[in-house]
This record gives sequence, C-alpha cells and structure tokens, in this order.
Amino acid sequence: MSTPWGYRPRNERETPEWDLHPQTHAVRTGLTRSGFGETSEALYLNSGFTYSTAEEAFDSFAEETDHFLYSRFHNPTVAMFEARLAAIEGADFCVATGSGMSAMFSSLACLVEQGDHVVASAAMFSSCHVVITEFLPKWGITFELVKGNDPTVWAKALSKPTKAVFIETPSNPLMEIVDIAMVSELAHHVGATVIVDNVMASPVLQKPLQLGADVVMYSATKHIDGQGRVLAGAILGSSSYIHEKLMPFTRHSGPSLSPFNAWVLVKSLETMEMRVERMVANAQSIAEFLEARPEIKSVRFPGLKSHPDYELAMKQMTGGGTTVGIEFVEDQAQVFAFMNKLRIIDISNNLGDSKSLITHPATSTHRRLAPEVQVEMGITPSVLRLSVGLEHSSDLIKDLTQALS
Ligand SMILES: *Cc1c(COP(=O)(O)O)cnc(C)c1O
Repeated sequence: MSTPWGYRPRNERETPEWDLHPQTHAVRTGLTRSGFGETSEALYLNSGFTYSTAEEAFDSFAEETDHFLYSRFHNPTVAMFEARLAAIEGADFCVATGSGMSAMFSSLACLVEQGDHVVASAAMFSSCHVVITEFLPKWGITFELVKGNDPTVWAKALSKPTKAVFIETPSNPLMEIVDIAMVSELAHHVGATVIVDNVMASPVLQKPLQLGADVVMYSATKHIDGQGRVLAGAILGSSSYIHEKLMPFTRHSGPSLSPFNAWVLVKSLETMEMRVERMVANAQSIAEFLEARPEIKSVRFPGLKSHPDYELAMKQMTGGGTTVGIEFVEDQAQVFAFMNKLRIIDISNNLGDSKSLITHPATSTHRRLAPEVQVEMGITPSVLRLSVGLEHSSDLIKDLTQALS
C-alpha cells in the first residue's frame, strides 16, 4: 500500500535484553507505531474495527487472532497506556477504566458473590466506603472494617473465611498507613485476594505487589494525569486475576476508558516521576512549616517523624506523599476564613494535581459519610486536606503564612 504522504512500514526494533528501569518504561513501553512512523503515541479515536474477510471476523471473535474487536474490550491507544503502566508497576497486566471508582468497584465485584465476606481498612475514601458498606451488603456480601494497623486486630478479622481484603494506604485525607506486607500475609492464610488502593502513594512512591498484595488499583485522575484534565482508573495484577476474574466482568459491564483520555495519560506517564518527586519535596517542606505553627493542632504527613506510623511509611514508601492532613486549633468558621484568604492555593476537591489544592473533607469529599463515621475517621470540621503541587515551595509557604495571620 502507498499513499501520497509517504506510507512506510512501521519501524520495529528488537527489545533490549536487559531489564529496563521504570523511567525508561515511562517514555518507551507500550508504544506501537502505525505505518507512518510517528514519534509520539497515536490517538486511535475509534469505537470499532473492520475485517478484510468474513473469515477474519470469525477467527477474531474466536480469539484466534490479535485483531482488535471493539473499544469496550480494547483499543490500540488504551492498550499503550495499559502496557506502559503495567511495566512501571511491575505487574503482569493492566486494565484501564473510565474512573478510579469504576476501577475500585470492578476490582472487587469481579471476585465476590452472595455469601462472601470482605475485610477492609476503616479509613477510606468516601465512595469506596459506600461501595463496601452499602452496595456489597445489598448483594448478600458481608464486610468488616479494621481500624488502624495492629497485627492482632487484623489477625482476628482475618481468622474467618474471606474472599477479598481492600486496603487504602495512605488513606485519604488523613494519611493513615496500613502495613501491606503484614495484612497480605494474614489474608493469604485464609485465601483472600488483597487489593490495594494505591492512589495516595502513586506508582512512584509505593509498589504494593512487591510487598505481597495481589491487585493494585488507581484513580489515574490523580497523580497519573496529575494535570486536572481527565477522569480515569486502572487495575493491575497477575495474568490469572486479570484474565480469569477481571476481564470477563469488565468486558460485559463496560467501565472502559475513552481512547482520548488514554492518549492524555500515556503522555502524562512520561513526566509522572519528575512531577511526583517535586510534589513530595514541596509537601515535606510545607508539612514541616505547618507543624511549627501555633494555629495548627496537628499535621498528618507520613514523611514527618510525628506521624504514628512514620517508620512503617518510610519502609513501604519512598517518600512521604504529596498530600498533607491539617487539623486546626479553631473551628469550621476560622478554617473557612483561612481557605478564603489563600491567593495561590485553590479551593478544590481534587488531589495529586500540579496546582496546589485545598479541601474541607467534612463538607465536600467525605460529606456523604454519616457524622459518626466521619468522627471515627478523624474528619472533623477543623480538618483540611492540602494537595501540594508543582509551584515553588517558598511561594506556597508565603501564601499559607499570609492566610494564617
Ligand atoms: C479519588 C479517589 C478515588 C476515586 O477516583 P475517581 O477517579 O475520582 O473515580 C478512589 N480512591 C482514592 C483514595 C481517591 O483519592
């Protein structure tokens, strides 16, 4: 085939025989060039695919070819994002989804059936809490929430048959830490699949699969895009989990990621590590600054020695994170006045963004939780969540200083 603009066969080179670093995967892995030899990843914004013959369609639907079938199942641009993220994470496979919540829901729903039992960490993002404590029970699935990180408490919860364990570490918004290796070991004794919501740590700071977990899920809306553009999610795990449990569920329930959003994310992965590392350095300086201020009762940041699980956090993460939980001495009225005085940091409910964002969880992200559940999670009206971005840390500290005074 030739075209007026110069068709040439795609340039396939041999894969290096050595193990590549995540930084190299982030810009290289998954790239499948079309015949045009484009440098950057192409956007295949199409829902369907065509077949040269009826027989080719027959063979493709019998899964005897690697021909793409339909973008609800897979799509070339989505596949580039999945391959790249799986390589960075060190997972066998990845399935991308349209949001973090569709990833969370699918990761669990593909495993459980009526009569099963699920154990989860108590400090959780509110929509994850709703799925486990309100939706699963409607379908005859029981649950138990475990507060904190005490091995004897986890061992007791995991002494009965359990299908899945869901843990969020660090937790949103108060950065509580759960020992992934300890919980995974206990869970495997009762045959449970361990799913980690790794959103707050991002693929850069924590590798749950290496610590013993079975499945990792992301809201790619957060650090993976990290620039406030698209909603997305991802689920990563072993070949058997992805092919035997997850894909038979997602192919037919349809939480698919748009190819356009996948294309944005493929490019975001190229800069993710640099962005997250700068955000961590900024968050560390800001957490240290806030901890010394009299207006602040406590600062929750895993990179501070005052964090109750500082040592564990430093063992299972390579940095303190990008989000700081702040408890003020004063009540909601003073906290709102502080938010309103900020000139750089935006009031918003997102996190993991290049722009620093401040949130009042009790009245926004975690508003859906019952008041007693909020109290149990420590989300009082005096608590703010600060997601630290890529601005210069001294400008952020000046902004916080003027708003505090
Ligand atoms: C944001 C978030 C989610 C949900 O992700 P969406 O992309 O908003 O659907 C799940 N878990 C945690 C910890 C989050 O912060």
